[in-house]
Amino acid sequence: MNFEALAQRYGTPLYVYDFDRIRERYERLKEAFAGTKSMIAYAVKANSNLSVIRFLARLGAGADCVSVGEVLRARKAGIEPYRIIFSGVGKRDDEIERALKEEILFLNLESEAEMERVEAIARRLGREARISIRVNPNVDPKTHPYISTGLHENKFGVSLDTAKRMYIRAKNSPHLDPVGIHFHIGSQLTDLEPIREAAGIVADLVRSLAAIGVEIRFFDVGGGLGVVYRDETPIDPADYAAAIKEAIRGLDLTIVCEPGRYLVAEAGWLVTRVLYEKRNGDKRFVIVDGAMNDLLRPSLYDAWHGVRFLPADKEERGAASEAEIVGPVCESGDWLAKGIALPPTRPGDLIVIEGAGAYGFVMASNYNTRPRAAEVACEGGRCRLIRDRENFEDLIRLEEAYLEDDDDA
Ligand SMILES: *Cc1c(COP(=O)(O)O)cnc(C)c1O
Repeated sequence: MNFEALAQRYGTPLYVYDFDRIRERYERLKEAFAGTKSMIAYAVKANSNLSVIRFLARLGAGADCVSVGEVLRARKAGIEPYRIIFSGVGKRDDEIERALKEEILFLNLESEAEMERVEAIARRLGREARISIRVNPNVDPKTHPYISTGLHENKFGVSLDTAKRMYIRAKNSPHLDPVGIHFHIGSQLTDLEPIREAAGIVADLVRSLAAIGVEIRFFDVGGGLGVVYRDETPIDPADYAAAIKEAIRGLDLTIVCEPGRYLVAEAGWLVTRVLYEKRNGDKRFVIVDGAMNDLLRPSLYDAWHGVRFLPADKEERGAASEAEIVGPVCESGDWLAKGIALPPTRPGDLIVIEGAGAYGFVMASNYNTRPRAAEVACEGGRCRLIRDRENFEDLIRLEEAYLEDDDDA
């Protein structure tokens, strides 16, 4: 990837994605599920750029969405309704209604209250809502607490008992069609055992539901496959798929898998330029033009990202020393990398943050009235812009009309 050429052409901070790498990831996972009915529903929230979704759509992916906005993005990017799933703990009535009208594959429900609401809306529309219930199998995924979702202490899903009660109720409702079962125990999972355990628990529930006449067709195993940010050993997709196939042995189910991070994290970089260097006492800071508003993960999760220092003459710069890479935002929490060995830097040097393809741009904000970065996609050695850099006008557009004139006061 020629980051210098891209930075010159499109400016910095800049997100760059390698679509070839996304394709490789997608195909490896798809192949792992070969021999069983399966669908890979890309978790759109990881990177919801329309071109990213469209690229995955063309590879055959469906979409897992957590807002109606994401459902509409998936449709716009060319994903067929029967490949779209709508998940999330807090769906609004208008979102439920729109999802039903779009005739998506199913809604993943996360509470009894939500099921009642979906039933009422389906009744009003004279429809039958295809649903799936998110079961919280209460297993510890051993990941960061903010991205752990499979324990009863988390807000996600319902207990096995509640799920069973909900399925019976749904089966008896003319407006609910319980077609799927769902679990998603956390993100950035690097240990297969909790997934194996959860899949076993949920598959047993499918068997006991079958015994009382509730026929589940979709076994939605969520996402969560971990990636390498530093020195993690990720789960091999082949082992992952084998564990799931084993769990549902003897059942006639379509496996639905909802990877986000796995598909896009390592296929994205945030390209920044050095503005200044400074020392405060013993501490060395390298200030770059990218910040927490561009990439929130370090500030939010204390996340570690690899760093590439790219000046052509870096070998002649002298001895490296430890530095913290920080942005211009007025927050002490505004940092991109800590404890990084860097030679002396100069203004304009390129510093590239690795592993920024997932939960990067999508979490960007306009904090400090900073326009969001441009995004570029590269495929087969050719790169193209897939989102313009915002400008000042974009940022004030929704306020401007309400600006009161002093003269009228
Ligand atoms: C966030 C999320 C995913 C994707 O998680 P990754 O860790 O990015 O794979 C999948 N399913 C649901 C329900 C989610 O909330």
